Amino acid sequence: ATPMSIMTATGRGAQAGILIKDAEALERFSRVDTLIVDKTGTLTEGKPRLTDVVAIAGGRGGGGEGRGAENDLLALAASLERGSEHPLADAIVDGARARDLQLQAVSEFDAVTGKGVTGVVAGRVAALGNPALMTQLGLSTSSLETVADDLRDVGKTAMFVAADGQLLGLVAVADPIKETTAEAIGKLHALGLFIIMATGDNERTARAVAGRLEINDVRAGILPEGKQALVEELRAAGRSVAMAGDGVNDAPALAGADVGIAMGTGADVAVESAGLTLVKGDLNGIVRARKLARATLRNIR
Ligand code: ADP
Ligand code: MG
Repeated sequence: ATPMSIMTATGRGAQAGILIKDAEALERFSRVDTLIVDKTGTLTEGKPRLTDVVAIAGGRGGGGEGRGAENDLLALAASLERGSEHPLADAIVDGARARDLQLQAVSEFDAVTGKGVTGVVAGRVAALGNPALMTQLGLSTSSLETVADDLRDVGKTAMFVAADGQLLGLVAVADPIKETTAEAIGKLHALGLFIIMATGDNERTARAVAGRLEINDVRAGILPEGKQALVEELRAAGRSVAMAGDGVNDAPALAGADVGIAMGTGADVAVESAGLTLVKGDLNGIVRARKLARATLRNIR
């Protein structure tokens, strides 16, 4: 690559909202054949909203039936999530505020990466998160799995709520697919990319979302280290891999890929780990970056 053509490309990139770290990143991106995309915040808006609250009948939600039990469950969930920075947490807190629910103080708050949160609320040891978290706490989610599966099949994320060693219910959120995603994926295919969705979310939810898009492969239920392992697995199989993501949990995978693409609206650590940063975090930025990389390298050869 000549320094001149790379400089021109860097300038053009900046105008198109693509920040290029170095010449090698652009050069490597022209050769990438596989693109891994994080679901939350990359394919979807990353702003989930609360859609469902299900309290187990007779569960000790704090008293009352129906709406009362639901509100008690949601208030407990929101109290726990107030200390979390996860997008799912914001959805739950906002949902509780919309219902004018009173939140309680939390002590011993702990965030379990890729699983959920725990803490003590009004003297009760409470937890909120996925089945993996409940299993870790010795609780079975089986009584709610049918309800949860129905929610997952329409692309929602279900999170279980427990307190005092008892499963109390679940809350669910929906995170809409970005308006630009479907068309951009079509263009990325036309530009020769095999597209894999990687997500910490569960298999059913992930497949429901992927089913509305032309995604070639889905890897669900993976922890941050898992995304990095996926990058390594594909590279070991001879693929040239780009990874696009926005979260703190995507940073190791971004750093390990042939090209890391930070979706600009996300965490600083993601930007530091990336070769390309998209100022506007939608997939059309990747389409533009791919075209730019190819045009630049064509001129050089
Ligand atoms: P993603 O790859 O979709 O960004 P994460 O790795 O952040 O997912 O989280 C994976 C799963 O862990 C979530 O789908 C959710 O079920 C659970 N989880 C993580 N953080 C929280 C939280 N603060 N509250 C509730 N659930 C959480
Ligand atoms: Mg994420």
